[in-house]
Amino acid sequence: MKSYLIEENALPKNKAHHETLFSLGNGFLGFRGSFYEEASPTEGCFINNFYETHPIKYGEKAYGFPEITESMVNIPNPRNISLIIDGETCLLDEDHVTGYKRILDLTTGVLRVEYTYTKDDKKLKVSSEALVSFHYKNISMIKYQVTPLNFDGTVEIISSLNRRSKALVAKDDPRVADIEKPSFYVDEKILDGDTYGYRFKTFETKKSVLVLEELKVKQGKLVSGEIYEKIKYNHHLSFEGKRNETIEVLKINEIYLDEERKTYETLAFDVLKEKQKAYLDDFWKKSEVNLEANEELTQGIRFNLFHLLQSINKTGDFGIAAKGLTGEGYEGHNFWDTEIFIFPFFLFTQPDIAKNLLIYRYKTLEESRKRARVLGYKQGVKFPWRSISGIECSGYFPAGTAQYHINADIAYAVSQYYEVTGDDDFMKAYGNEILLETARFFIAAGHMHKGKFKIDCVTGPDEYTALVNNNYYTNKMVQANLKNAYQYLKKFNTLEVSAKELEGFREAYEKMYLPFDEEQKLIPQDDNFLDKEVWDFENTPKEHYPLLLHYHPMKIYKHQVCKQADVCLADFLVGADVPLEVKENNFNYYMKVTTHDSSLSYNTYGIMACEIDYLEEAYDLYSKNVRLDIDNSHNNSNHGIHTAAMGGSWLGLVFGFGGMRLKSGELYFNPKFTKALGPYSFVIQYHGKVLKVAVDTEKITYTLVKGDQVHFYNNITKVELTEKAPEFMV
Ligand code: BGC
Repeated sequence: MKSYLIEENALPKNKAHHETLFSLGNGFLGFRGSFYEEASPTEGCFINNFYETHPIKYGEKAYGFPEITESMVNIPNPRNISLIIDGETCLLDEDHVTGYKRILDLTTGVLRVEYTYTKDDKKLKVSSEALVSFHYKNISMIKYQVTPLNFDGTVEIISSLNRRSKALVAKDDPRVADIEKPSFYVDEKILDGDTYGYRFKTFETKKSVLVLEELKVKQGKLVSGEIYEKIKYNHHLSFEGKRNETIEVLKINEIYLDEERKTYETLAFDVLKEKQKAYLDDFWKKSEVNLEANEELTQGIRFNLFHLLQSINKTGDFGIAAKGLTGEGYEGHNFWDTEIFIFPFFLFTQPDIAKNLLIYRYKTLEESRKRARVLGYKQGVKFPWRSISGIECSGYFPAGTAQYHINADIAYAVSQYYEVTGDDDFMKAYGNEILLETARFFIAAGHMHKGKFKIDCVTGPDEYTALVNNNYYTNKMVQANLKNAYQYLKKFNTLEVSAKELEGFREAYEKMYLPFDEEQKLIPQDDNFLDKEVWDFENTPKEHYPLLLHYHPMKIYKHQVCKQADVCLADFLVGADVPLEVKENNFNYYMKVTTHDSSLSYNTYGIMACEIDYLEEAYDLYSKNVRLDIDNSHNNSNHGIHTAAMGGSWLGLVFGFGGMRLKSGELYFNPKFTKALGPYSFVIQYHGKVLKVAVDTEKITYTLVKGDQVHFYNNITKVELTEKAPEFMV
């Protein structure tokens, strides 16, 4: 049970980090966990798809550089509640607060805060419960209670709704926006009975957000109540407090994006709490993970999965941002992080959510088609490296637009989706077109040279090496992209693709150039990587990591140094035909030159360490990945969670220790056991069936939890489970 609780027992030292950890959201909206009682410079409230565009300023602009970028708007925080005793606002500091506790319960989705406040000789107990409803996406609530412990007297509460926000700006960190002008204005003020609020509108994107609030008195002797606007809306309540008698108010916020207010039945906190619990019961049933002997890691992975659920949009209208809805890092943009690191968790637990991520990509095809033309290609699409709506927002093309692999990553997710669900309708309506258009792009982007299909001048996943010829990861993923396009377009035959074009796909994937170093039995990252000088790791001080903040890109690019897994990621995703010995060589070689400055790195190396039986190393990498945000080990969780690393922690367990792989639509497991990790289990969905895999020192147990029949492979042995014989042990 403890592993479902995120607890804090003292006022946080690093407030911004803890605001990230205690964020609440539902995929539509998200609030950072700042205290209600005081303004925080890093507070945040975000709405998925509420963004503004800003011009990108270049010193020297070249043809085709994106002109504008999109930025998720930090709307004014609607969660303030001030407590006033003797005319003074109570602020949360160590001089006044004792018995402080903050608990995020992952089973109920409720954030609880409690403490005792001492003002001179007056003591009060303050406690609150908050939730952002999964059930009613527009609604969030705070139940706020104050109990005078040793006095009778006036207690004032002011709930307020702000109209100004402060966006986070960092001039010299490429991971944070550099925006100066305001993103929105107040378009309308609303005061309707006890409900008040604002409609905010963005200047350029013309998006509108309606933020409303109502404060209800639930307990306590109210003396006066007044709603007034002074810079912001305030609802000022004055109570006649009585010793040991609790005053309770309920703050209800409604937030709407580009839509009018809905009518809800009376909203009671306990009713919403029950619905929240039911929603999460279902989520945890589908996403069960357990590392029985290791409470810290179990807590870590559950925390990650909960945050993914809080961050992900569930409608197919937009994606999931690199920081979810918990911070302004990366401006609310989505990346390849979605398809490669986050998508698989949803695919194997809630495939409908995964499907919607691909539908969002489908909706951006037109924009991506335009982008491919700008890049000089007459056919196909080029998905943006980073974006909210689908336009390319990367102002630094060597580590942005040049990452052509994003096309192949999305195509990879499409075929994985089909292999796990067999959803023909999806392929006919969306999937095939994505496969076709990405394949077309690569036919145009590559070329035949000495009988081999080559792709020049791209950047692979490792952003410390840029603009190279034949990045192995890219070529290998493109090979899969072309092959899948060829096979699925033939199978479905819905898009009128000529036989000649399909043959072109076949020829390109059959003749794909994949660099290989025969002598070392090693896969080079690209045509030149192995010829470069190795980075001087020995003389690089610890505080110079991440390198991107301390060295000019040119210095980094000319060395053998990787920000993150590249070849090893290809070995994981599309490495079925690569001999184990080569994978081991790749792991040994690239681990030495990888800084893991990207949070996307540990999980991949951990997975490959499992595959090659380096289990101690696997455990070490896994534990670094799982608690990355909880422990702030990358030092930038202040800017928001790392959704890719969070998804990666699920991959690390299921694909890493569990050894799960999909090969030609068949499911394989090759579970590994290590004492350090201890027994573990997880559930997955596959073609609508639910399978549980449990591993301990002595045995592996497969159980069919739902469905009439399922088959898969344990290593190379075919296993079939049925309702009558639902269990298999090895
Ligand atoms: C990584 C990219 C990633 C981006 C967003 C960068 O640091 O190098 O691979 O897509 O962060 O998470």
